[in-house]
Amino acid sequence: MERLLANAATRAAAYLKGIQIRCANPSPEAVAGLAAFWEPLPSGPTDPSAVLQILDEVGSPATTAMAGARFFGFVMGGALPASLAANWLASAWDQNPGLHLASPVAAELEEVSQGWLLELLGLPPECAVSFVTGATLANFTALAAARNAVLRRVGWNVEADGLFGAPEITVVTGAEAHPSVFKALGMLGLGRERVIQVPVDSQGRMRTELFPELRAPAIVCLQAGNVNSGAFDPAAEIIEKAHEAGAWVHVDGAFGLWAGASPELAHLVSDFAAADSWATDAHKWLNVPYDSGLAFVRDETALRAAMSISAAYLPQGEHREPSNYTPELSRRARGVDIWAAVKSLGRAGIAAMIESNCASARRFAEGLTAAGFEVLNEVVLNQVVVSFGPAAVNEAVVRGVLADGTCWCGRTVWQGRTAMRISVSSWRTTADDVDLSLSAIIRIAREVTNLPSPA
Ligand SMILES: *Cc1c(COP(=O)(O)O)cnc(C)c1O
Repeated sequence: MERLLANAATRAAAYLKGIQIRCANPSPEAVAGLAAFWEPLPSGPTDPSAVLQILDEVGSPATTAMAGARFFGFVMGGALPASLAANWLASAWDQNPGLHLASPVAAELEEVSQGWLLELLGLPPECAVSFVTGATLANFTALAAARNAVLRRVGWNVEADGLFGAPEITVVTGAEAHPSVFKALGMLGLGRERVIQVPVDSQGRMRTELFPELRAPAIVCLQAGNVNSGAFDPAAEIIEKAHEAGAWVHVDGAFGLWAGASPELAHLVSDFAAADSWATDAHKWLNVPYDSGLAFVRDETALRAAMSISAAYLPQGEHREPSNYTPELSRRARGVDIWAAVKSLGRAGIAAMIESNCASARRFAEGLTAAGFEVLNEVVLNQVVVSFGPAAVNEAVVRGVLADGTCWCGRTVWQGRTAMRISVSSWRTTADDVDLSLSAIIRIAREVTNLPSPA
C-alpha cells in the first residue's frame, strides 16, 4: 500500500508539472488511445501498480488540462495544492460523513467550514449549509427547502403529502437562468416549463420593470453571475417586491457568489444577502477538487424538513448530523477539502485569487478589443464573451484554439450569437498566461478571418 500510494503521488506530481507545458486539449491520438480501456471484463486480478500504470499511461494523456493555468473553458476552477492534498488524505481516511458518530472529524470540519464560508461570503450567520456535489444539486436542495416553506405557510406539508392536490406554486426566473435551475425545478415536481421567465437586458439581467405581480405561494430564482456574461440580477428591487408578496427568493450564485469574498467586488453581491437561500460551487471558484457544491438556507427548519432522515437504527445525537441537510445519506467528506482551501489561503488569499482572475478577464477583454475583435459582454467579473465575426468564423476560431493547445476556450451562444467564451477561474492563471493565450487566440483569429497580422 505504501509503495502504491507513493507511486500515485509521483505520477500525479509529474502529471501536474506536464500539463503546464502540454497542449491544453488532448491530442486525437491520445483520445484514440482510450481504446485500450475497452477490453472484456477482467477474469482475474491485476496487480494494483499495473492498474495505476495503465490508468496513467492511457488516461493521463487523454485528459483536458483543467488543472492547468490556461484552461478557460466553461467555468471550471483548478484545485489548490492544500485542497488536493487534503482530498487525498481524506480518501485514505475513507470516512462516511453522514453521521457525527460515524465520522466526528468529517462532521466537524463541515461545521467549521460552514461558519467560515458564511462570514467569507457575507451571508446571514444563521444559515444552515448543505455540502453537495455541485451547484445543480445545491439549487435542488435549496429549492426543496423553498418548496417546503412556501407550502407550509399555506398549510400544506409537501414532504408528507407530496404535490398531489397541493396549492400551485408560482415560480419566477430570469430568461437567462442557468439550465440547472430548470432541471432542479423538474426534479422537484415544480416543472421545467411552467415557470414565468422574466425578460432580460443585453447583459442577461432580469428587467425589473417586467417583473410580474406575485401571489403566495411563490418562489423567485435570481442569478448572481451569468454563466456567459458574469452579470448579476438587480437583487435589491426584486427581493423587496418578492418578499412583499410572500415569495421565497433563491439565488443561483454558482461562481458569482464568490465576489462576496473580495472587498473590491463584494458590492456586486451585497444586495443578494437579503434572499432566503443561495447555491454556489466550491469546485469552481474556491478551487477545490470535484465534486463540491454548497447550498445555504436561512430557514434551517425548512431545509431540515426537506432533507432530514430518520430511522431507528440511525443515531440522532446532540451534534449537527450532516445527513439531515443533504439529499444523500452516504457521500464523500466534502468539508475536508473546503476547510483546507480556506485554511491555506485565508480571507486575504481568497480575495486575491478572485481579484486576480477578474483582472485577467479584463486583460483578455482589453487585448481582444485592441486587436479589433468584439467583446460582447461588460466584463464585470471573470467572464469574457468575444466574437470574431459570423457564427462560422467563431466556430473555426474555437476549433483552431483547441487544436493549437496553448489554451482551452469553448464555444458559446450568447443572446442568439455564436461566440467564444473565456472564463478565468484558476489560482494558477497569471498575467503571463493571459498574454501567451491572447497572442495565440489573436494569431488564430487573424488566420481564420484572413486579416493581415501587424508587421
Ligand atoms: C456551473 C453553474 C451551475 C451548475 O453547477 P454544477 O456544479 O455544474 O452543477 C449552475 N448555475 C450557474 C450560474 C453555473 O455557472
